[in-house]
Amino acid sequence: MAHEAYIVAELEDAGDAPSYCVSCEWKGPASEADSAWGCRLTPGGMVPAGRCPCCGEPVYIEVEAEPVRIVIGLDGGVVQGVTANTPVEYLVYDYDIEGSDRVVTRPALDGGEVEVFDSGCDDAVVDAKTVATIYAALEAEAIP
Ligand SMILES: [Zn+2]
Repeated sequence: MAHEAYIVAELEDAGDAPSYCVSCEWKGPASEADSAWGCRLTPGGMVPAGRCPCCGEPVYIEVEAEPVRIVIGLDGGVVQGVTANTPVEYLVYDYDIEGSDRVVTRPALDGGEVEVFDSGCDDAVVDAKTVATIYAALEAEAIP
């Protein structure tokens, strides 16, 4: 199946929505971008808010992504479960390897290498409703 290309012919005015250029460092309100007329669109792709006033490449509106929220259950330093609000794979680096015969060398989080207990990655349980309830309780605790 051939992929069809679409061309921007008309856009809603994005106003002063914070925007960024895909090609250079330009950032600014969408109202300062040049017309998006003639930008190529791909099905499922983002729709540009205009063209960069510096380099002419497409400019997109900044979208604040919802944070991935994860609840990790520990008991005696052992992970009992990981629940997240979106599909997440996780990997535990257990540095407590003294006396263990299941030790592997892996890339360290701060560069170099590190020896950790040999474990693979797992999928977190996805339960957005429960995670939201837990975070809401946490936020309620923070209010004095
Ligand atoms: Zn640019």
